[in-house]
Amino acid sequence: MNVPLLDLKAQYATIANEVEPELLRIARTQMCILGADVESLEKNLADYLKVKHAIAVSSGSDAILMALMVLGIGPGDEVILPTFSFFATAGCVARLFAKPVFVDSEPNSFNINPDLIEAKITNKTKAIMPVHLFGQSADMDSITKIAQKYNIPVIEDAAQALGTQYKDGRFVGGIGEIGCYSFYPSKNLGAFGDGGLIATNDDELATKLKQMRNHGMNPKYYHKFIGGNFRLDAIQAVVLNIKLKYLDSWHKGRQKNANLYREFFEKYNLLDKVIVPQEIYQNSGQPNHHIYNQFTIQVSQRNELRDFLSKNSIGCDIYYPVPFHRQECFNYLNCRDDDYPIANKLADTVLSLPVYPELSSEQIEFVVQTIKEFYDKN
Ligand SMILES: *Cc1c(COP(=O)(O)O)cnc(C)c1O
Repeated sequence: MNVPLLDLKAQYATIANEVEPELLRIARTQMCILGADVESLEKNLADYLKVKHAIAVSSGSDAILMALMVLGIGPGDEVILPTFSFFATAGCVARLFAKPVFVDSEPNSFNINPDLIEAKITNKTKAIMPVHLFGQSADMDSITKIAQKYNIPVIEDAAQALGTQYKDGRFVGGIGEIGCYSFYPSKNLGAFGDGGLIATNDDELATKLKQMRNHGMNPKYYHKFIGGNFRLDAIQAVVLNIKLKYLDSWHKGRQKNANLYREFFEKYNLLDKVIVPQEIYQNSGQPNHHIYNQFTIQVSQRNELRDFLSKNSIGCDIYYPVPFHRQECFNYLNCRDDDYPIANKLADTVLSLPVYPELSSEQIEFVVQTIKEFYDKN
């Protein structure tokens, strides 16, 4: 049996009939960038996420960059963020010549530990940027409380969490001042290329972000401030408009697969070897409290297990092997490695398994059986 980490062709097969005429329509009309299809995507996503404004942009990384830019963050400013995340979270801060300030993770949720945030706040702190890692919300109550106490805006990196609902039912990305999402093909709502989204309930920020997306231009060829080319293509918008209709059913498929993993790990007596991802808000009654962009276990002998799975045609990957405080490009920050014991441990133990919605129960059982085989031998 062959179990890839992600099978985008399997998903495409279910929507090809709908998508292909739309792609042809764009080809024939040559309405290539922004335009009516992007506007309808923005309206559909604002409705879905229950936010006032949704602004489609060129990527999740650009969404984060624009959020920082629109808040005027630049040289000398500090932004607090988790050390355990995808690189863009920290990279966007640094490329504006601001200083990313890293915080260790919670062991159970993989998310930023809110108890460690306040100690990192200085008079230069200009934003707190939690990440809803792997599709589960960060502790927004605690983070919002600290942010309000110091009057600091919250930028949510919801790149992996479009559709995740916090315990009170609000969609993540719509809780802080600005939310950033990615349509990278491996995200739950993935385009046919790069794309991203910014959500905000603030009219003024929304107006400025729309201008920023087009070099800060308003009216044509007049620029009051400097933006960039952060526009989304129409082709991505038509694909995303179709996929959005199926997003909740795909979330359900991922959740079902996560539950199957739990059952099989129990059936094969592996729960002393494998720490399964904890659902922090499972008692909240929110169906999408975790949308499983990744199903990430923690194990010992992780690298050996990864190699063993690969040899058995099972896709898996390490998200993420190197936390920010250990990245060479951040040596200049002189971080103390001992300050990040949880992230350091996660970097050595995490392994993400296939969880995409089209997986069969047999495939999931095969993954668990193969893990069993590995630990029986080792
Ligand atoms: C994917 C991702 C991004 C960046 O999104 P792109 O669309 O690839 O630029 C940012 N942060 C996190 C946590 C991500 O997973």
